[in-house]
Amino acid sequence: MAETLIKVDLTQSPTANEMIHNRWHPDIPMACWVKPGDEFILETFDWTGGFIKNNDSADDVRDIDLSTVHYLSGPVGVKGAEPGDLLVVDLLDIGAKPDSLWGFNGFFSKKNGGGFLTDHFPLAQKSIWDFHGMFTTSRHVPGVQFAGLIHPGLIGCLPDKPMLDMWNKREIDFIATDPDRVPGLANPPFAPTAHLGKLTGDAKAKVAAEGARTVPPREHGGNCDIKDLSRGSKIFFPVYVDGAGLSVGDLHFSQGDGEITFCGAIEMAGWVHMRVNLIKGGMAKYGIKNPIFKPSPITPTYNDYLIFEGISVDEHGQQHYLDVHVAYRQACLNAIEYLKKFGYSGAQAYSILGTAPVQGHISGVVDVPNACATLWIPTQIFDFDINPSAAGPIKHIDGSIQMPLSPDLK
Ligand code: ZN
Repeated sequence: MAETLIKVDLTQSPTANEMIHNRWHPDIPMACWVKPGDEFILETFDWTGGFIKNNDSADDVRDIDLSTVHYLSGPVGVKGAEPGDLLVVDLLDIGAKPDSLWGFNGFFSKKNGGGFLTDHFPLAQKSIWDFHGMFTTSRHVPGVQFAGLIHPGLIGCLPDKPMLDMWNKREIDFIATDPDRVPGLANPPFAPTAHLGKLTGDAKAKVAAEGARTVPPREHGGNCDIKDLSRGSKIFFPVYVDGAGLSVGDLHFSQGDGEITFCGAIEMAGWVHMRVNLIKGGMAKYGIKNPIFKPSPITPTYNDYLIFEGISVDEHGQQHYLDVHVAYRQACLNAIEYLKKFGYSGAQAYSILGTAPVQGHISGVVDVPNACATLWIPTQIFDFDINPSAAGPIKHIDGSIQMPLSPDLK
């Protein structure tokens, strides 16, 4: 039986747990050690460490201190792992904790985090999703039910010092190009809220001052938010430090491609059952800079989609050159306008795009000046037919149920 090497108590603060950390730094001590071939289980907090509650107010989403995230379980040391190796991680299974069979999705306030469509949804909103075995529904978003494609939003190995220094320099230099931007261009190290496992005193202060924030995906993987990195996947991670230092967190019950709502997918606390192995010298052997992975043999078999196109002409009619970000935003906005015709609020439609197993594709990036992105909505997740027809859309959603919204206080 796989041993649970890291346990979390959801009634406690994550900062009281010495096997949890919220920064990347090579000097964070290993929380535990395993051998190649070992199977083990790591429990995790949700990415906010329990700050977001199962209630009907979005005040917590509005007020959260985003310098506290993400709370990760680890690092797990792997005996024999050396820089240049590949760490092979089998995600054998992933689940919710039995005392926490729910998750949350939200939109951050534009003044505190924002999101992909923050100019259209500038206020904090939240939806709570209940888990029914492998399915989920929300009391705030009626008319949909779908199977979870459960995955860690964030998983990766510790950087070495040169890589950490490179991350910090390039991101701090980038912030300097527009230091007053809201939301900010990136997040520099921030010592006051750093939690670094069992580090204390001067050792903690040094690592806290230098530790990279966990927000962006980087060369080591990290916060990639790839919905297809689901249970049953096999991932190959670059190793930079002796022991590798594997950490995981930010579990998602389900997510649409892009995690467009930023807070985020259906976020949950849970556990990951995994196995590790090594490919010695694998980075050079396979020319690997960023992780690669194999998908799960088991995924929800939604096979009928309504697909929305978007091009790189923005909401104001301005032309952008092959800009996939703009094109995907247009595809999402087009889908939201469409779903509103069935009675959903814009927020509910946005929440569906962020949480359901929606696919996003880069469809064309060569036909100047317009990139084309597509957003694929599985039609089978709805309780009613969302296909266009000559009869026109029927308002199945009557508007009596809405997502909690909090006014901006600042
Ligand atoms: Zn997440």
